[in-house]
Amino acid sequence: MLAQALQVVHVGVDSEEVASSNPEPELLVDLPPQSVPGMLPELHLSARELPHVRERLARRTSHHEDTTGRRQDGDADDAGHVHCTRIARRRLTLRSVKYARRHPAIVGGPSADEVARRLLTWFDASHRDLPWRRTRDPYRILLAECLLQRTRVASGIPYYERFLARFPDVTSLAAASEDDVLRAWEGLGFYRRARNLHAAARVISERHGGRIPTDYDSLAALPGIGPYTAGAVASIAFGARVPAVDGNATRVLARLFCIEADVTRGDARRLVWALASDLVPASRPGAFNQALMELGATVCTPASPSCERCPLESLCLARAAGVEEALPRVSRRAKSPEVRVAFALVTSGARVLLAHRPASGLLGGLWSLPGGEVRARSGPSDLRALVAEQTGLRVGVGARAAPVAHTFSHKKWKGAVFRCTSRSSRPPSHSARFVRLDELRDLPLVSFHRRILSKLLPRAGTR
Ligand code: SF4
Repeated sequence: MLAQALQVVHVGVDSEEVASSNPEPELLVDLPPQSVPGMLPELHLSARELPHVRERLARRTSHHEDTTGRRQDGDADDAGHVHCTRIARRRLTLRSVKYARRHPAIVGGPSADEVARRLLTWFDASHRDLPWRRTRDPYRILLAECLLQRTRVASGIPYYERFLARFPDVTSLAAASEDDVLRAWEGLGFYRRARNLHAAARVISERHGGRIPTDYDSLAALPGIGPYTAGAVASIAFGARVPAVDGNATRVLARLFCIEADVTRGDARRLVWALASDLVPASRPGAFNQALMELGATVCTPASPSCERCPLESLCLARAAGVEEALPRVSRRAKSPEVRVAFALVTSGARVLLAHRPASGLLGGLWSLPGGEVRARSGPSDLRALVAEQTGLRVGVGARAAPVAHTFSHKKWKGAVFRCTSRSSRPPSHSARFVRLDELRDLPLVSFHRRILSKLLPRAGTR
């Protein structure tokens, strides 16, 4: 954290003061008031903290090259001033500095070299053999990173293999229709990931000649590619020295450095990223990032970390304090609300009425039975209104045909599918149509609607 804080301020080291007889000489950190309004004018670090600050500044900045002869960030001048002027001033906040001050253990925490050495040795001997670890192909790594966000490895592997068989490279993915991409993703949830990956493939095809960019900034500029994915691809596929901090890595770092604040928020979140940036080594950064995540997935697990098997046990501040199971602290999430839903099953011969869901909403881009969220005691009126809005058809609502119970990350849907009738078989809306049952196999459908349709209409195409 201090390295992060100090990257963005001028750091003045008073050599005479350090050398004086004062048992606790100080390092003065001048905080430029114009860059951070309202900030304290200076921060005092003790002599015990000073070597760590210097070491971290040197580590953090040693890879910067300056061919113009200007002083580099982290260089010390003759008067003992360490200059750190180039990097992201906007990241510094008063609270983040205060946070570092309240947690002096971070300053004297585990040495980055030792953490990297132990983690890499452990990873080489213990990592799981996963399909995306057998390749340096950036497309495969990008696919795996998108696919595994919020998805368990065991569930993700079959999708990874099916997706690659269907779209073996960026060019084939860029040329595919959105329906085809969503069909390959169907059942995995969080469909925005698939649409973003598809959009990224098109940008790579159009602006980068079909080659995935090699640097972090260009990767992060692709549609839907956030800091984690950009860091993972840049480090694993291209060997860039950048962090990749997912939930597993966050948990390990929160425990290793005994961070007691809520690591999903604000300063503590930035602190975790800063620590990860400090730790990632110049040699094998991709393997290091994977090792950190792998440790979180297999050893430093949420409920009961297996510290006795952990290569970092003797370095871990939470373990030393006996609080490893209490960390990381996260704000308790509100219980997922239960929301009533109703959907219409409207058939016309061997065809069924489907609506194309808007890209921006829940289950965006998929096809579904018309309907959705209704008021708890609305009777058939809300369903009639939803069908009219989504398809342009007026329907009569009949008997209940099947129950619906589906859980999302933030809410639960509970309700039913109702048999409905319509006088017209031609919906006026462009986003709705009657679909032949044998065509269903090729359309990306809301997965629980596909299950219901395969029971209610046995001729409906299934996987
Ligand atoms: Fe996690 Fe325990 Fe290892 Fe600390 S010692 S990093 S708490 S598994």
